Amino acid sequence: MIRMRRVTKVYKGKIYALEDITVDIERGEFVFLVGPSGSGKTTFIKLLIKEEEPTSGQIYIADNNISQLSKWKIPYLRRKMGCVFQDFKLLPHKTVFQNVAFALEVTNKPERLIDQQVPEVLKLVGLGHKLDAFPDELSGGEQQRVSIARAFINRPPMLLCDEPTGNVDPSLTDGIMKLLEHISASGTTIVMATHDRELVNAYRKRVIAMENGRIIRDQDRGVYGSD
Ligand code: ADP
Ligand code: MG
Repeated sequence: MIRMRRVTKVYKGKIYALEDITVDIERGEFVFLVGPSGSGKTTFIKLLIKEEEPTSGQIYIADNNISQLSKWKIPYLRRKMGCVFQDFKLLPHKTVFQNVAFALEVTNKPERLIDQQVPEVLKLVGLGHKLDAFPDELSGGEQQRVSIARAFINRPPMLLCDEPTGNVDPSLTDGIMKLLEHISASGTTIVMATHDRELVNAYRKRVIAMENGRIIRDQDRGVYGSD
């Protein structure tokens, strides 16, 4: 599903954010991307969504070399990936329903479908009773569940999450993880960047550990590691 071949990303001609990364992530895998701040996790995700371009190396998504993708095809690439960010990125003046509906409106889905699917996915994330609330009326954990609903509503084959529990109260991170596991069980590939050691150790997924832009460990049912 995701293949990186000798990928290097250098910012401003001197900061090696990623260095010679070669990795395969198969369809349906759940992967923790771990490492200290500055180790290259966000850059890894930005290259996959083509928010940044690699300085060298090749990246394939579902066997397509995305470095050769023409600009007008990028929106189609992004529709194959749901993205979840640390800061939720919800639209503050839209309700929960409208925030999620927006993801369908941009792909020109008919209103009838939107009215049916949005409440459905919000029920899935446990927010069926909050359709008319605004983001600032929700807890961090609830806001993140809205953003997961938005990322998942088009049923993308892969979900990329950058520190999704970073701004969520520790007592609520379990709910987020359970939800991601539920989505994963439906066959969705999940890459989750995190430096939450306890969470990684509790869930025992594949762990790709980064340090200074390099992969220092890649382990099935792994732990965060010692540092
Ligand atoms: P992480 O998400 O693991 O904290 P990042 O991918 O954000 O790591 O950053 C990796 C390295 O690249 C860091 O040294 C960071 O300062 C640098 N970096 C990230 N984005 C930029 C940018 N736009 N311009 C210059 N340097 C950057
Ligand atoms: Mg980051």
